[in-house]
Amino acid sequence: MNEDVAIVGAGIVGLAVAHHLQNEGRRVRLIERGGVAEGASFGNAGAFAFSDILPLASPGILRQAPKWLIDPLGPLAIPPSYLPRILPWLVRFWRAGQVDRFRQSIAVQSALMRVASQAMEVMVRDASLSAQVRTDGNLQLYESEAELAAAQPGWEMRAAEGIPFQHVRGVRLAELQPGLSPRFVAGTFTPHWKTVDDPYHFALALFDQVMARGAAIEPGEVVRIEPSGSSVRLHLSGGTSVVAARAVIAAGAWSRPLAQQLGDTVPLETERGYNTTLPPGAFDLKRQLTFGGHGFVVTPLSTGIRVGGAVELGGLKLAPNYKRSAAMLTKAAAFLPGLKTEGGRQWMGFRPSLPDSLPVIGPSRASSRVLYAFGHGHLGLTQSAGTGRLIADIIAGRTPPFDLSPLRANRF
Ligand SMILES: Cc1cc2nc3c(=O)[nH]c(=O)nc-3n(C[C@H](O)[C@H](O)[C@H](O)COP(=O)(O)OP(=O)(O)OC[C@H]3O[C@@H](n4cnc5c(N)ncnc54)[C@H](O)[C@@H]3O)c2cc1C
Repeated sequence: MNEDVAIVGAGIVGLAVAHHLQNEGRRVRLIERGGVAEGASFGNAGAFAFSDILPLASPGILRQAPKWLIDPLGPLAIPPSYLPRILPWLVRFWRAGQVDRFRQSIAVQSALMRVASQAMEVMVRDASLSAQVRTDGNLQLYESEAELAAAQPGWEMRAAEGIPFQHVRGVRLAELQPGLSPRFVAGTFTPHWKTVDDPYHFALALFDQVMARGAAIEPGEVVRIEPSGSSVRLHLSGGTSVVAARAVIAAGAWSRPLAQQLGDTVPLETERGYNTTLPPGAFDLKRQLTFGGHGFVVTPLSTGIRVGGAVELGGLKLAPNYKRSAAMLTKAAAFLPGLKTEGGRQWMGFRPSLPDSLPVIGPSRASSRVLYAFGHGHLGLTQSAGTGRLIADIIAGRTPPFDLSPLRANRF
């Protein structure tokens, strides 16, 4: 008889895990305390950023960070009240940014991205999601030749991993995105970068597919996980419980206390990100634009033009500071003259982030019946299908396509 798998969290990662387990004939039950895909998966920038293999913790970021931190509404912020809480994470982040560890993380991230890209292609096809995916690439923009030169070592590392890109200027730059402010003198075009029409719609369409293939959904909050020799009992806050042969924790930024109960102290924090979604037609945007020096992107979606990014290391409880969304919108209006900035919807989301920019994928300390699939930081949409594929490999007892030990929960 097929095993039942309970999946905690119906964000894009939990849904992709469900899809992959169904491919193997397993019966899945999603347990979700809120709305489906209403966490970080709701309002992200919608990119399949398969070429984004450089961890955030990098020698470059460590150089940039002090400058960014000076501007309270800049690309990186730490609310003073949260500084003592985040300090141990920052120390690990700093260590992860040292050259040798940075290079190791790139190797692991590249291997994960290769799996993610293949698995996403298959999932998009099998779940009939192709109509929601655009393959028009990404254009990263620079305000000076010096800024491009500073980015060049990162592009060389990507080239070494076989990632195609093209530096562009002049007419070619203007073709790729007409109407840019002349302050941008160069760009890098990555043609294989993809975006979805809208990340929430993409996740809901996957949810519909998973449900149509027989998944169950249980509304409720998992508060305790109790593995035994032959099963796992998941206790919900209302006093009921779900029993399954295995469980997968895909609770995004909220996964840490569940892992803690299972004997794993994981330094999972949240990088809060902000954006504004302007009505469709706010700008004739040809593809996703990245303003790397300012820490945000502008994405064309079917539901509008989404302007945002930034990182606020402020934990799960502080109220959102939407001045951050507004600050990025003001910059975007200067970068894209003619951008209609009225009528936008602001949003803040909790990226689930580990200091080395790699997720946790693998078994818990307490029991191999409970697996982790969380901590994808800036890349959860991109790596969702790859994570589903790896979890399916682990459960089936197959050798995964690369060594997963750098993704284990106790690596810190
Ligand atoms: C501004 C911004 C832009 C981004 N852009 C991109 C991008 O372009 N490309 C990309 O790949 N990624 C991007 N990301 C990151 C991406 O959104 C996340 O990595 C991804 O959504 C994480 O998915 P998840 O399923 O792990 O978490 P979530 O989507 O947060 O889902 C977790 C779910 O678990 C549920 N849950 C939590 N605890 C419990 C519990 N105890 N019991 C039951 N349910 C529980 C929550 O309610 C939630 O629905 C961006 C993020 C932000 C904030």
